[in-house]
Amino acid sequence: MIAPDDKVLVAVSGGKDSLGLWFALTELGYEADGLYLDLGISAGEYSSHSKQFAQQLAERIQRTLHIVSVSEEMGKPVPELAFASKRETCSACGAVKRYLFNRFALENGYTVIATGHNLDDEAATLMGNVLRWQLGYLARQAPVLPAKNGLAKRIKPFIRFTEKQVALFTILNRIPYIEQECPFSEGAASLFYKDLLNKIEERSPGTKWAFYSQFVEQIQPLLDEKFPEPELRPCIRCGTPTTAEICSVCRMKERANRLVARLNSEVNS
Ligand code: AMP
Ligand code: ZN
Repeated sequence: MIAPDDKVLVAVSGGKDSLGLWFALTELGYEADGLYLDLGISAGEYSSHSKQFAQQLAERIQRTLHIVSVSEEMGKPVPELAFASKRETCSACGAVKRYLFNRFALENGYTVIATGHNLDDEAATLMGNVLRWQLGYLARQAPVLPAKNGLAKRIKPFIRFTEKQVALFTILNRIPYIEQECPFSEGAASLFYKDLLNKIEERSPGTKWAFYSQFVEQIQPLLDEKFPEPELRPCIRCGTPTTAEICSVCRMKERANRLVARLNSEVNS
């Protein structure tokens, strides 16, 4: 996943997975820095609390933690961007995160972005994609996505470990983390799929890993061949590679700005 000359950027959310990953990579000798995105989620002070945990670990391992604010970069925090552009909060949030991780890495000389996704996360995503046969998504659900023109390499080093194993690793290394779930994740399908997979695992141990690893080994490469990613070209607004003329994040930003302008003019008239 990591070549000797790679410069690693760990996306740290303040949760157990990404903090555990950052700690593990530095213990293994990688000079990995962290990137925390302040999503601007004020409910339960979720964003400000999670940031403190990321800062605490940065101090302990003596590595740089970069902090980027979505409000500053996009003009609005994630919940408002999602509302104004009529997108589901989690889908808008995912798009903004991927966009800012990539832009930050490229602008600052990082060659690989590591995220804390674990086996439970990936198996649940796989289940969601399989239930709807979303072949395009399945074709790109791999633990390593190589760099492409304008896109940094993305890796998920913890995909062999279950959520429980990662939690134990983080706790045993005495790393405090935010236990609160994101307030927008309540009722999310992914949590339901995780629960179902745990029930299956209890009855038939090893199924979760078999489901995911056999997909990665046998199915994903076939799909990748059959459904090659459409030609990407630079977004005419920001230059990020996209399949459309304007990338989805720029479109989101523009829709949100238009809504604010309309509301202002209605208030003034
Ligand atoms: P999630 O999509 O919230 O399950 O998070 C998956 C992974 O994305 C985490 O393990 C982190 O590596 C990364 N991540 C999520 N939220 C943030 C954030 N606010 N800042 C930086 N990285 C994040
Ligand atoms: Zn753009």
